[in-house]
Amino acid sequence: VTEGTLHAHARGAGTLTTLWCELAWLGGPEPQERVLVELEGERIVAVAAGEAAPAGALSLPGLTLPGLANAHSHSFQRALRGRTQRARGGSFWRWREQMYELADTIDAEVFEALARATFAEMALAGVTLVGEFHYLHHNRDGTPYAEPNLLGESVIRAAAAAGIRLTLLDTCYLEGGLPRFRDPDANAWAARVSQLRSSALARVGAAIHSVRAVDPAGARVVAGLAVRRGWPLHAHVSEQRRENEACLAEHGITPAELLEGAGALEANFTAVHATHLADADIARLGGARACICMCPTTERDLADGIGPACALAGAGASLALGSDSHACIDLFEEARAVELDERLATGTRGSHSPLALARAATAGGYASLGWPAGGRIEPGALADLVTVALDSPRLAGTRHRDALDATVFAAAAGDVRSVIVGGRQVVRDGAHVTLDVATELQAAIGAL
Ligand SMILES: [Zn+2]
Repeated sequence: VTEGTLHAHARGAGTLTTLWCELAWLGGPEPQERVLVELEGERIVAVAAGEAAPAGALSLPGLTLPGLANAHSHSFQRALRGRTQRARGGSFWRWREQMYELADTIDAEVFEALARATFAEMALAGVTLVGEFHYLHHNRDGTPYAEPNLLGESVIRAAAAAGIRLTLLDTCYLEGGLPRFRDPDANAWAARVSQLRSSALARVGAAIHSVRAVDPAGARVVAGLAVRRGWPLHAHVSEQRRENEACLAEHGITPAELLEGAGALEANFTAVHATHLADADIARLGGARACICMCPTTERDLADGIGPACALAGAGASLALGSDSHACIDLFEEARAVELDERLATGTRGSHSPLALARAATAGGYASLGWPAGGRIEPGALADLVTVALDSPRLAGTRHRDALDATVFAAAAGDVRSVIVGGRQVVRDGAHVTLDVATELQAAIGAL
């Protein structure tokens, strides 16, 4: 790329064409300085380091990264933040009762407003792609809405209003839980989700809620549809020991083994949590080149435990990250927690490099959610970019060569200054360009 080939951008019109990044992470261990990124529509078409800023380029001071992917979200659970922390002797199962109370009372209108506000909070935190693991499907009594995908469609609208990319992981839920979670059987689930349509910023994927909620025959139907459609397939796997014990008692095998038997690992499969795995499960998921979505801030909030991320990566699995229950929304915190929790568990530093953690937060999540063209800054990639300020109190004084490491280990969501999704700027100077995010959250949560 030479300066002569670059064009001015039209600020505010959503047609950025040339960006100049003070520093950009292009995939190696250290960021590059003075990087020009040329965009055409929603794609990156050229990248060149060591360039002066041409007149008219959008200048991005700080460190520019590929957009962050939040691969596991239940947006309505944002309303639980701060409300579940006083239960003495609590556990995942007590927390789940509080979550069910919320899920049982939220109406369609508030559900959409809360999803929009939560996705907008994600945008401010640098999230350019979210995977919504969506299992709230029906009326409170379990009868379908007149529009059977009313709530799924509202998730799609919410992400579009927040300006971020979405994979709607429509979740099969057949047993237990609340009536509004459940479809009558897996074929009814398949017929319903087959009516969902992808758009420029939204794709459809499948999920098996868990082996608690879907029997092996149902799991086989879901996996088969995901394979035929080329959809990503996600499932909660072994988040709690009790889930393993119940699966062993009923089926004589572990959840991962059950899902393998149902054909799930033949899809683009992501195991969410994977906290309590047998050694054979680690080999099974690694050998299948499955993705593991760790959600450390939720896993610690719910006292789940620490998953074997290092062993899984060593066995061949890839890693992605999710904020799950949204106890907080900060992908930098999720990324470093994978390593820091493992340090506490093993007494060893450095199982996951800053580079590996940054990949989990970007390309790992994009691949897991069925957007393999995202999560990197290179020609042909999706023009999804996030810029982190290096002059905040947390990062001031960082040497350029250490900027990726410092960002992964010390940045906060509030350090994000610019977010670009598909070539359109969604966050500018740390503020959402169309939504007052705090006011939206206040209104949605206040309405509950
Ligand atoms: Zn979850």
